[in-house]
Formats: sequence, C-alpha cells, structure tokens
Amino acid sequence: MTRFLHIVASLLLLSFLLPYPALAARKKAVGQTADPRPLSVLGEVKHWSNPDYTRISLEFDRDVTWEAHELGKGSPGKPGRVYIDINHAKLGPGVKDITIGDGLLKGVRLGQYKHDVVRVVLDTENIKDYKVFPLSEPARVVIDVRGERRAEISRLEETISARQEQAAEPKPKPEAPVAAEKKARPQKKPFISKIRRIVVDPGHGGHDSGALGPDGVKEKDVVLAIGLKLRDLLRDELGLDVVMTRSTDVFIPLEERTAIANKVNADLFVSVHANAALNHVASGIETYYLNLAKTEKAAQLAAKENGTTLEKVSVLQAILFDLMANYKLNDSAHLADEVQRSLHGRIKGIHPDVRNLGVKQGPFYVLVGATMPSILVETAFVSNPQEEARLSDPAYQEQTAEGIMEGIRGYITSLK
Ligand SMILES: [Zn+2]
Repeated sequence: MTRFLHIVASLLLLSFLLPYPALAARKKAVGQTADPRPLSVLGEVKHWSNPDYTRISLEFDRDVTWEAHELGKGSPGKPGRVYIDINHAKLGPGVKDITIGDGLLKGVRLGQYKHDVVRVVLDTENIKDYKVFPLSEPARVVIDVRGERRAEISRLEETISARQEQAAEPKPKPEAPVAAEKKARPQKKPFISKIRRIVVDPGHGGHDSGALGPDGVKEKDVVLAIGLKLRDLLRDELGLDVVMTRSTDVFIPLEERTAIANKVNADLFVSVHANAALNHVASGIETYYLNLAKTEKAAQLAAKENGTTLEKVSVLQAILFDLMANYKLNDSAHLADEVQRSLHGRIKGIHPDVRNLGVKQGPFYVLVGATMPSILVETAFVSNPQEEARLSDPAYQEQTAEGIMEGIRGYITSLK
C-alpha cells in the first residue's frame, strides 16, 4: 500500500516537473512521424439529393480514417453544422466545393484544414441525423444526411393512402393512370397500397462483369435481362412505378444504387444477382437482407458482391448496427421471405431439383443506408454449369422475373 502511494506521488511530481509544452511538443512529433505513407488523395466528390435526403460520396486513392464533429445541433431555428476531418489526406487537383441547395443542405465545402487533414463542412439547413461510413475498392467515405420532413411526409402519405382505400372500396375497379401507355399486356386490377414505387437494381454492369460462369456467361448480362423483365411485370401486373438503377450495360457504383432508391423515395428496393462458388456443384436460390452475416459463406458472398475482401466485410460489420438505424429490418425480412418462397416455388414447378437455400442475412454495401424494405436476390449459381445454362435462357429469365414479381405481390397483399 505504502509502495503504491509512493508510485502515485512520484507520478504526480513528475507531471508537475515536466513542462506542459514539452509534453505537447513530444506528442506532436510522435504524431507527425507515425504515418510514413503518402497522403490519401481526395479525387472525386459526388452527391445525390432530394429535400429530405442527401448522400455524399468522397472517393480517395487509399483508405482513410476521419472524425466527425457537430456544432450547434438541436438549437431551434439555428441549423447545426457538421464537419468531418479526414486524417492523413489532401485535396486532389480540381476538387471543388459543391452547391446543393435542396432545403436540407446548402452545400459542401472542402478545404485543406492542415497539411494532412481535409475538412469537409456540411452547410446544413435543417437536418435530423447523419451517418458517416467507409466503403472499399475504391476507398470511399459516404455521408448520409436525413431531414426532418421525411417522417412527416410518410405520415401524410399513409393518411392519403388510407383515404384512397376507403374511397375506392365501393367503386368498381378504378383504372390505373399508367393503363393508357401500356399496349402489350392487359392491365390487371391495380393495387391501392402504400407500395407505389419500386427500384429494381440489376447487379454489376460495365467493367464490372460480376461472377463468370464456366461457359463464359456473365452475371451482369443475365441479371440485367431478368431485371428488365421484372420491371415490365411490376408495371403491367402490379401497376407499380418502377425505377431502374441501370437498364443498359453500364457501371453504377454500389453507393449510387442505394442513393437512387432513397432519392426517388422508393417504397421497395430489389437488387438482382447471380451467385457463384468455387465448388461448381453448388446451386440454388437464396435471398438476403441487410444484417450481420451469420455464416462464413454469407460473409464471403457479401465480400464478393461488395467487390472487396473479408477483412473489409468485418470492418463494415463492426459499425453496421449504427448504420441500420433507418433500415426496415422486419419488413425487409418479410419481403425476403415472400420473394424467396415465391421464386423457389415458381422455378421448382419447372425444375423440381432446384435447391431452396432460404432467406439469409449479410452486410451488403448496396443495402447500407436504404430506408425502405430492401433485399438482394441470388437467382441461381452462374458457377454451376446447369444453372449457368438456365440463366442465359430467356424463358428461365422470364420465370425468375415472374417468381420475384409474385413474391412482391404477396408482400404487398400481406400488408393489407
Ligand atoms: Zn452480384
């Protein structure tokens, strides 16, 4: 005990004897020499925005760390200001401030705050919350900002939808407004529900082929074909407003796909993919929603679909709960369940041997930040020769699209 007190006393004495500036200088010197790597360069800044949601993506040439700070948040009439300091980084040539002016953010200012710190200032007008998270390959820092009005709008939409439903019930079949444009398929009775707009996201595209089959079939091609058929079915059969993240062979970054869904205020988000495994015997259908991976296989698949490594998947998993605050977890699980059951049932009717791998969970970049029920469907294994052949068959693509559409119909019906 005496000895312990003696040590404490010595430490106290030492701290008084050492002049503070010397300590500070030593700390600074250590900080400056600790990181011999070249500074990360901020090369590109993108944003997607509507009055209630803005996503900003900062692209660097290597991974970065950051600190987020807020000033004056919560004081009424005085919008909070958020700034994010990116460590060990510098502004690339030609990187400029961005003007947004959407009612949520006035803009984003970018500056070289210190020789090795880039400061990103969000000039906010009326924000409710924000999230900052990293994505890899390429290294990005994504900032999602949400406004106050979104909650009000969804409450208002629910009231309107309830009124429409009441008003519509006694009348015979109201015609959907899209009916006039449609020629090919007969218009079915439209749904009057909270679900009006859906984003269909065919995975990969452009330089990103996705998984490759042994016979050369590319995931990006077959999922686009399925996605386009799904779009037509959702419009014609369910009368939904469909927005495609891509309808041609073009590359769209994963964070942009989610941003599109949030920006257009989609009610559902469905990402369409084809699976792959080293073992060419692996086959079947599985549907994912966003959560921690429960198995090594799910984590490996997320790494593959994210275009990154297992290590980066664990980085994302570590912060996933914080990012899922606005994610409709239960609704997504429910949607996944309906789509999986319906899709497997539809394909089983033609190929009785098709395996049902069930509904699973994983940390997929493309689902992070989505505010509506959102799923990722692995339609079949392009790495399996038999399923590869099926995937490139237009009839099978149509059946797959039908299975997904029927699952979405089941989900919508179950909401009533
Ligand atoms: Zn994929």
